[in-house]
Amino acid sequence: MKKNRLLIGLKGPFIRFYLADTTSLVEEAREKFSLYPTSAAALGRVLSMSAVMGTMLKDGNEQYNIAIHSDGAISTIMAIARPDGSVKGFISNPNVYDVYEDTGKLAVGRAIGSGTLSVTKSMNMKGNFSSTVNLQTGEIGDDFAFYFAKSEQRASIVSLGVLVDTDQSIRSAGCFFIELLPGYGEEDIVYLENLAARMRPISMEIDELSLEEIIEKNLGEVEILEERELEYRCDCSRERFKEKLLTLSRKDLLDLAKAQQDIEIKCDFCGKTYTYSAKELNDWLDDVGTA
Ligand SMILES: [Zn+2]
Repeated sequence: MKKNRLLIGLKGPFIRFYLADTTSLVEEAREKFSLYPTSAAALGRVLSMSAVMGTMLKDGNEQYNIAIHSDGAISTIMAIARPDGSVKGFISNPNVYDVYEDTGKLAVGRAIGSGTLSVTKSMNMKGNFSSTVNLQTGEIGDDFAFYFAKSEQRASIVSLGVLVDTDQSIRSAGCFFIELLPGYGEEDIVYLENLAARMRPISMEIDELSLEEIIEKNLGEVEILEERELEYRCDCSRERFKEKLLTLSRKDLLDLAKAQQDIEIKCDFCGKTYTYSAKELNDWLDDVGTA
């Protein structure tokens, strides 16, 4: 499988860019959740942006929790991204295949509808930073650009795209995030505006060109600061879900134990199923009881 690559660099002193090819990561999500094309594009765009955001975190223990809640056919999308470049996600409705009549493009904005985008940065012992903005178009790129401007005072271009092939597999997917850094001048704003006007959809670029060629074509000469790898990875485990179960009230746990049935928990982010026997549950209850 092709690697998910991210290049981070500078165009002059005041413009920073992140360009990521997330094709195989989004394809992995499509296979995991059996996503229909519009659902694949929606989750794929969120995963692509989230994975890139994860790499912006400085502390290894921090993570981004990103959530879209809306009133469309796709009502919830979530993603969790970490500094090591790993990301995982969830979509409430994997079965949306809706296309705009006029352009023939996947109708992501219509499938999402109106609602909110929430970004929570968990900063380990230092608490959380959380911010919610209203969705602008539901097309996700616009919504993240609005989030960055409103909540983090970062002026940026956010280009997110997923190209779905005729066999419904992911042909290309990516994120091109370009932002102004503190100290920028009028000429940098103009540069960004012109760039936004001439940029093609990022999924088309990634389908046809390498990351290096996309940078060369759109930005000309740049300084590459870092190359990273991104991946879809779930960190769930039997132990973690047990801990979650044990956060239920004692009464709920007793009710579950009384039912004398195995408890099955399915991970929303990877589909893995964990089974706990009634005996195990009773043993835990004994432990909790004497603690
Ligand atoms: Zn999992």
